[in-house]
Amino acid sequence: MEKNDRNTRLIIRGTDAPFMNALRRTVLAGVPCMAIDEVVIIENSSVLRDEIIAHRLGLIPLKTDLDGYNLPEECPCKSEFGCNLCRVSLALDAEAKEGTRTVYSGELISENPDIVPVSDKIPIVKLVKEQKLKLEAYARLGKGKKHAKWQPVSMCTYKYFPQIKIDDKRCDACGKCVEICPRKVLVKDGNGIEVRDLMACTLCQDCVDVCPQNPPAIDVSWDENAFIFNLESTGALPPKRTMTEAIKILDKQLKEFGRQIKVKKSAKS
Ligand code: SF4
Ligand code: SF4
Ligand SMILES: [Zn+2]
Repeated sequence: MEKNDRNTRLIIRGTDAPFMNALRRTVLAGVPCMAIDEVVIIENSSVLRDEIIAHRLGLIPLKTDLDGYNLPEECPCKSEFGCNLCRVSLALDAEAKEGTRTVYSGELISENPDIVPVSDKIPIVKLVKEQKLKLEAYARLGKGKKHAKWQPVSMCTYKYFPQIKIDDKRCDACGKCVEICPRKVLVKDGNGIEVRDLMACTLCQDCVDVCPQNPPAIDVSWDENAFIFNLESTGALPPKRTMTEAIKILDKQLKEFGRQIKVKKSAKS
């Protein structure tokens, strides 16, 4: 329904709510992305403590190259410090020479030009004259289930696909349902009511409750096997890559689950 470099809105049919929830949770907690995980502070004379600066750096979304790096726990180096295949270093050397100034994410210099902050305009700290911040940061791949900084999305939701029926014979076009709808789904059209934007419906039922007819001339329900899926990327990964990775991970987990059930069944018999 909608696709750009940050957002994707899809209609997914022929499935059920448990599967949609598993997909949503895999996107949030299972798809890896890069985030700063370790910071060596060389000099910090700002008002913020080292730990707060490290936390802020961790939450800066970084563009991620999933094919070029290994998760630290899967990297052949087996080193706690990491190697070029599981770690990227970024340096920051900022000083307020003239007067008060803000240090932004764009001042982080990465050893890999592909692994850089998604935005140059994220404030890290304000420095007053003669204050300095010098540090080296190490980014690694990680998963949202360990820390939210590794979530590749800022939003991932789904809702049932709405169905709205208006009984033209009993509807007197009083317009009460049009007025009350918070999402402007309905519109008055001559002597009747039309659905203008079905996808915007949140299934709140306000239009049904306000209808003076008994039973109401409008009916709002949903398709149990069709969903509208919304994904908003932090910019770490393109939405399409996030979806395909999530599907791959879920597929692998379901196959493993199936295999374990078979093993248990054969052990019983
Ligand atoms: S259920 Fe709520 S959102 Fe949907 S059409 Fe009715 S009032 Fe609008
Ligand atoms: S509130 Fe009921 S009767 Fe009035 S326009 Fe809407 S559906 Fe028709
Ligand atoms: Zn490594």
